[in-house]
Amino acid sequence: MAIEFDDQLGERLVDAAVQPADDAEGSLRPQKLDEYIGQDKAKENLRVFIEAARQRGESLDHVLLSGPPGLGKTTLAGVIANEMGSHVRVTSGPAIEKAGDLAALLTNLAPHDILFIDEIHRLNRAVEEVLYPAMEDFALDIIIGKGPSARSIRLDLPPFTLIGATTRSGQLSAPLRDRFGVLLKLELYAPAELERIVRRSAEILGVNIDREGAFEIASRSRGTPRIANRLLKRVRDYAQVRADGHISREVADMALRALDIDALGLDATDRRMLRGIIDIYGGGPVGLEALSATVGEEAVTLEDVYEPYLLQLGFLSRTPRGRCATVRAYEHLGIAYTAPAAPVQEDSLQQRMDEWLKNG
Ligand code: ADP
Repeated sequence: MAIEFDDQLGERLVDAAVQPADDAEGSLRPQKLDEYIGQDKAKENLRVFIEAARQRGESLDHVLLSGPPGLGKTTLAGVIANEMGSHVRVTSGPAIEKAGDLAALLTNLAPHDILFIDEIHRLNRAVEEVLYPAMEDFALDIIIGKGPSARSIRLDLPPFTLIGATTRSGQLSAPLRDRFGVLLKLELYAPAELERIVRRSAEILGVNIDREGAFEIASRSRGTPRIANRLLKRVRDYAQVRADGHISREVADMALRALDIDALGLDATDRRMLRGIIDIYGGGPVGLEALSATVGEEAVTLEDVYEPYLLQLGFLSRTPRGRCATVRAYEHLGIAYTAPAAPVQEDSLQQRMDEWLKNG
């Protein structure tokens, strides 16, 4: 098992998925576009679309938000609702099991409400089909009766805006994707943006932090606001117990080191993934499934949670034949780079893997 468990939390600190310790997220969520830091391109587009819809007194066109977990998709849906002066109803793909569940949600919407569906790529087919006429014509087609006497009636729905969020826009069916008028891709945040997020959160939480301290946390948060906020809370605990409560660069550095998060925000699992590629597969290429077996993490988790940041750092490259560790990754891990001579032979792979697992 390769997941590193933090003693206090029992969960991976730099995992971008929601964890119980994030329960106070609500208070840290920006409410308006001006408070929403970064994602300038998406914000500028939205500003125009929101203004135009408001001027016409119409609902905003349906919006699809895509990007890795923790980047602010749910937050942005709330911000859009606030800017439009609308109510938002929140649900998720896996929570809507039957077509009837979605029909109930849709018929309960008031005009100009926003329906937010998280993980929209996980909607099942039958449910998705209810969504098509709802998105396109604000209508619900209901079949009454069975067999030859069955007939379909059409119910009008109030005009509404669907905001879908997904970590994997590639998995969305084409008919569903085509029904969104606004497609926004959220990017990993730059350290300077995360520094502003950390300082804003520190102010809300009443944490004493200086600019350098905030930057240190920001640059070790894998480009992800959720992780930045989580690390801020852990560093605050450290500062309170081991220092005078003030978070300076030194205090942040000591706290993050104690949590086994390195200078770039990589934890033991990231390093294990890179080491696996290097030690077992001679630097790659290695397929996702094989890598998943090596690291002991599901392939989807590797793809959604780990890879985006490693790709952004330039530590990993994706080739048609699989993932490769780059020279930079070797440098970061302090391993001498040797250009791959030939692909590692199948029969020596098992032996390498066994040795690797034995050595932990
Ligand atoms: P997602 O839905 O993409 O998984 P969330 O919207 O739940 O991510 O964001 C996680 C946390 O990160 C939120 O609680 C919020 O406080 C913070 N956050 C996200 N984006 C921003 C931002 N642009 N500015 C400030 N804080 C943000």
